[in-house]
Amino acid sequence: MKLVSLIVPCYNEDESVNLFYSVVNPILAELKDIEYEFIYVNDGSKDETIQKIKQLSDRESNVRFISFSRNFGKEAAMLAGIEAARGDAVILMDVDLQDPPNLLPQMIQEWIKGNYDVIYTRRSNRSGEPPIRSWFARKFYKFINKMSDVHIVDGARDYRLMDRRVVESFLQLKEKNRFAKGLFMWVGYRTKCIEFENIERAAGDSSWSFLKLVHYAIDGIVSFTISPLRWASYFGFFTASSAFLYMFYIIFTKLSFGNEVSGYASIVSIMLFFGGLQLIFLGIIGEYIGRIFIEVKARPSYIVQEQSSFALKKELPKPGLIVKGEFPSSIQRNIHKKKALYLRRNS
Ligand code: UDP
Ligand code: MG
Repeated sequence: MKLVSLIVPCYNEDESVNLFYSVVNPILAELKDIEYEFIYVNDGSKDETIQKIKQLSDRESNVRFISFSRNFGKEAAMLAGIEAARGDAVILMDVDLQDPPNLLPQMIQEWIKGNYDVIYTRRSNRSGEPPIRSWFARKFYKFINKMSDVHIVDGARDYRLMDRRVVESFLQLKEKNRFAKGLFMWVGYRTKCIEFENIERAAGDSSWSFLKLVHYAIDGIVSFTISPLRWASYFGFFTASSAFLYMFYIIFTKLSFGNEVSGYASIVSIMLFFGGLQLIFLGIIGEYIGRIFIEVKARPSYIVQEQSSFALKKELPKPGLIVKGEFPSSIQRNIHKKKALYLRRNS
């Protein structure tokens, strides 16, 4: 039996936690060839999300959770889930049911057949999204694909299945500033895309403001290409050459026609233009230096405040250490269940 770990990042999603489980669990239960686990990652939610997750985890034996000490962002939540997952395959999925669960059987079957290591999904349209947001998103993908070597598919979701090998490769990339969509593409492997029509959220609101998306786009560009720096150099070289030619022209007119005092307007506009340009390029350089600063500090991507007792590999209870009679019978039963699971995983 193969194990599939389903990773579900949640930020202020108390309405969706149970709904998600009640929709997805029956779909996976139908599949005969696999076992599966849910790993909910609570990304510092301010509402009742963690209570809802804990209740669910107490009730259902295939639900585990990790809870962060504060909001670290979806990238960190996905990373925590991927690090904790023990499955032969890992699936990333939003809790708001915008990632259609009915694609799961197809994704898992494609993987079991063994023809693909990554099965990712793509929205074929962006209906229900503000037009200005879609426009910027399209421009972003066009730009990043022109600039960088890695091709990031427009509309590709984080919703994807990855084989264990792909997960291990992904985890080898140690950078702190993680743009997962690009990293998934960067690791490569045999990849299949499944398309679907955009679906509106089941409950709650998207937590992505426009500004957050702009930052996300800049992160994507800066972590995948140094082309902006190169273009800054090219532009500098071009303007320096032009200035040099202009200098000859000025010397020539001075020598031929004497010194005429004019050109106030042109001097001011040139000064302002180049002042602005220098600030923009300083900003670009700053973006890269900022990334170096973050990488050098090497802080962890997230801090776990609480997690279900066997969410992480290293946290697994050692079967030999459990002494009978030390705990009340309900806990003892629970321990036995975990012990059996542990033995199965490690046999
Ligand atoms: N999410 C998260 N941390 C955040 C923001 C979002 O874990 O800081 C989760 C959120 O709970 C959801 C998924 O990431 O499961 C996608 O978020 P959202 O639906 O807001 O994004 P959209 O679908 O609008 O791109
Ligand atoms: Mg969503």
